[in-house]
Amino acid sequence: MEETSTLQIHPSTIIETDDIGENTTIGPFSHIEKNVHIGRNCFIGEGCHIQEGVHISDGTHLENGVYIWRGVYLSEDVFVGPQAVFINYRNPRAYSHPPRREEILQTKVGRGASIGANSTILCGHIIGAYAVVGAGSTLTHSVRAHEIVYGNPARHQGWACECGEALYDIRECVECGRSYEMIDTGLRLHE
Ligand SMILES: [Zn+2]
Repeated sequence: MEETSTLQIHPSTIIETDDIGENTTIGPFSHIEKNVHIGRNCFIGEGCHIQEGVHISDGTHLENGVYIWRGVYLSEDVFVGPQAVFINYRNPRAYSHPPRREEILQTKVGRGASIGANSTILCGHIIGAYAVVGAGSTLTHSVRAHEIVYGNPARHQGWACECGEALYDIRECVECGRSYEMIDTGLRLHE
């Protein structure tokens, strides 16, 4: 690994942006296009492709083979499992590729959310903070904060604590004791 201050970028990786925060690691054979923001303390694995304009916030972890296209915004501490793919427009045709910018639909992933391995995230949706999209899911709609969804198409399966445990009772996590209340956008932590 070539080390530049606290940034570790494998020499086989193609980096076209200079907007990468300190203490971030990028593995072999990845391609980061221009005008991509990558925050501090991020991990980007082997063979990832990050397209122009994508925003990746501090503390985010992308496993190997993750593809993220223009229009995607990842908040802090998002986890994306291996081979997960984000889609950015709805009606792909070979003869109209690449799409016009107005055809690209934005996807936002909230703080602390987790996207399981091999998931496909369709565009134009919001994944709430600390939500969990289970491995192998096809996500076709927005997900509320702390909501667990999985399947094809992904459906509601329960609620997740900030610590990662499933919540059997939103009033008390069996693992960490955190307590939540239900609001329109999902669960809200009791401070
Ligand atoms: Zn907990």
